[in-house]
Amino acid sequence: MSVETIIEVRNVSKWYGAFQVLTDINLTVRKGERIVICGPSGSGKSTLIRCFNRLEAHQEGDIVVDGIHLHAKMRNISDVRRNVGMVFQHFNLFPHMTVLMNCMVGPMWISGVPEAEARARALKYLDRVRIPEQANKFPVQLSGGQQQRVAIARSLCMQPAVMLFDEPTSALDPEMVSEVLETMTGLAKDGMTMVCVTHEMGFARAVADRVIFMNAGQIVEEAKPDEFFSNPRHERTKLFLGQIL
Ligand code: ADP
Ligand code: MG
Repeated sequence: MSVETIIEVRNVSKWYGAFQVLTDINLTVRKGERIVICGPSGSGKSTLIRCFNRLEAHQEGDIVVDGIHLHAKMRNISDVRRNVGMVFQHFNLFPHMTVLMNCMVGPMWISGVPEAEARARALKYLDRVRIPEQANKFPVQLSGGQQQRVAIARSLCMQPAVMLFDEPTSALDPEMVSEVLETMTGLAKDGMTMVCVTHEMGFARAVADRVIFMNAGQIVEEAKPDEFFSNPRHERTKLFLGQIL
């Protein structure tokens, strides 16, 4: 049985001006897989996942996302954005809209979903991240952990094929980290395809099918969590794990 590929990355390199930020990246994400990407600050983790929904453009190699080939002349970037949910470190909610509207506008404005259906969908996913009672508040009235769960619900409302997370807990006060990780763990249990940049190694152990370690724009090591943590092969990985564990 062939397993559906959601993200295919082949020999991808990228430069910011003269600075090479990604070097010959190869990676396949299959439907239902959970990938954790870790590595030191500046190693290119954000840049890599931002290439997956074309927030950044790569210059060499091929990226195919949910069957769509990403390249300079592509005309269907909005199809890619629709299929790829992204959750950022700093939530990026619309401050002037209620929680409910934050969740409704994507389906309504981007996918043309009727208002009543968008509202029902928003309430369903706010319930799923366990904050239905916050629907009529504004983001500023919520805690950081609640705002991040709204951001997750907002992404889910687009019913994406894959969800990308870029250090979703690193801007949170420590007591709020677990509620967001629990939400993400729930998504994983429901079978969501996920690529998570995170240094939450407990989450990686519990949820990831594979852990990818990046350093200086390259994938240095890729392993199942048990193997990655108990028997890292590369010196750079050992050094990194020594610093964060
Ligand atoms: P990470 O997420 O692993 O911390 P990033 O992908 O954010 O790494 O950044 C990788 C490198 O690229 C860093 O050296 C960073 O300074 C540089 N960089 C990131 N974004 C830009 C940009 N828009 N222009 C120029 N350099 C950038
Ligand atoms: Mg980053």
